[in-house]
Amino acid sequence: MIIIGSGIVGASAAYHLSRNGIDVTVIDANHEGRASAAGAGIVCPWITHHKHPDWYTLARRGALYYGELIKELKNDGESDIGYKQVGALAISKDDEGINQSQAEAMSKREAGTPEVGDIKRLSGEEARALFPLLNKEYQALYVSGGARVDAHLLCQAMQRAASLHGAQFVEGKASLTLKNGHVVGAEVNGELYAGDQIIVTTGAWTNELLSPLDHSITIKPQRGQIIHFGVKEYDTSDWPVVIPDSSYYMLAFDDQRIVVGATRETDSGFDYRLTAGGVKEVIDAGLEMAALENSSVSEMRVGFRPMGPDTLPLLGKLEGYHNVTIATGLGPSGITMGPYIGVVASEIALDHTLPFDLTPYNPLR
Ligand SMILES: Cc1cc2nc3c(=O)[nH]c(=O)nc-3n(C[C@H](O)[C@H](O)[C@H](O)COP(=O)(O)OP(=O)(O)OC[C@H]3O[C@@H](n4cnc5c(N)ncnc54)[C@H](O)[C@@H]3O)c2cc1C
Repeated sequence: MIIIGSGIVGASAAYHLSRNGIDVTVIDANHEGRASAAGAGIVCPWITHHKHPDWYTLARRGALYYGELIKELKNDGESDIGYKQVGALAISKDDEGINQSQAEAMSKREAGTPEVGDIKRLSGEEARALFPLLNKEYQALYVSGGARVDAHLLCQAMQRAASLHGAQFVEGKASLTLKNGHVVGAEVNGELYAGDQIIVTTGAWTNELLSPLDHSITIKPQRGQIIHFGVKEYDTSDWPVVIPDSSYYMLAFDDQRIVVGATRETDSGFDYRLTAGGVKEVIDAGLEMAALENSSVSEMRVGFRPMGPDTLPLLGKLEGYHNVTIATGLGPSGITMGPYIGVVASEIALDHTLPFDLTPYNPLR
């Protein structure tokens, strides 16, 4: 089996398949702007701006899959991935915003997902006890089932663990090889890697890879610029993720670091740059949410979200090519869903039955 792309989706597929004794070769071009290396790391579909039920089907399964994945990775000696269930704060300046988040989280918990956890309204002061730098005007709703992960570390851990189980990794840009109209493998640096099944997890770059085939899919890059702040006078290891009623967010990691994101630049193309406007936008958003004036700017990242035609992933076999499985289009939710989608893509390639209907995710829609 060949997997092209080893971001969060491809690395998870490689780990899942190799752990199950299947021979896999994983090819990655290490493109600048790989989404998984820039992603913030919020895993919390319990309070979200996404409303589509078919989105929630995968986001819920994605968030729940983390428990199993973390356990498996630990068994394989991988524990340093920054995953922690730190809870989430939905923040708002008015009651209405908090009411909406509360209704949403409660309905999800009541609809059979106890993992949403405790749901509690907090005063500004109570919220600041959990996230001390939060600005004073905000009140909050606390949801204990929110989590965060360092996606960059997670991808590396899944790749290492997949290698341990026999997966082979090849660095370079792949192009599909066809024989009599069938995809028989991928060529990298002049060498052919033959495979009976091909899993395509090439994110925003997918159409370039599919160019020798009769189909293209609806996918394009959306640039996200994101900034990491150092706050060395605080122990941030248990701070919850912060989700306001805007498009921005904030989360913390163990190493006295706060991440604020992000721009959503839909017509960016593959323009891999930090821009003055983008950096200002994210810093302004951070300062609006938290007292970060005295923090240091420790890192800025750029990533290309793979954006499909709507909010749903592009997932399934490519019509006319029985051995090509597409798994992309995770947009702004790929860290939440990505590891689970990697498993689903593997199961599709193996022609196994899935626990949900794939129809809404048809890659050619
Ligand atoms: C700033 C930012 C913040 C985000 N925050 C969150 C968040 O908090 N929570 C959340 O759930 N999601 C978040 N996301 C979304 C998430 O990061 C993405 O949806 C997810 O990482 C997509 O993963 P992927 O594996 O599909 O693609 P990618 O990570 O982009 O991987 C695709 C891989 O394919 C390789 N590739 C492409 N073409 C070829 C080729 N021809 N040959 C070989 N290799 C190839 C590339 O090198 C790359 O490594 C964020 C994204 C960004 C940009």
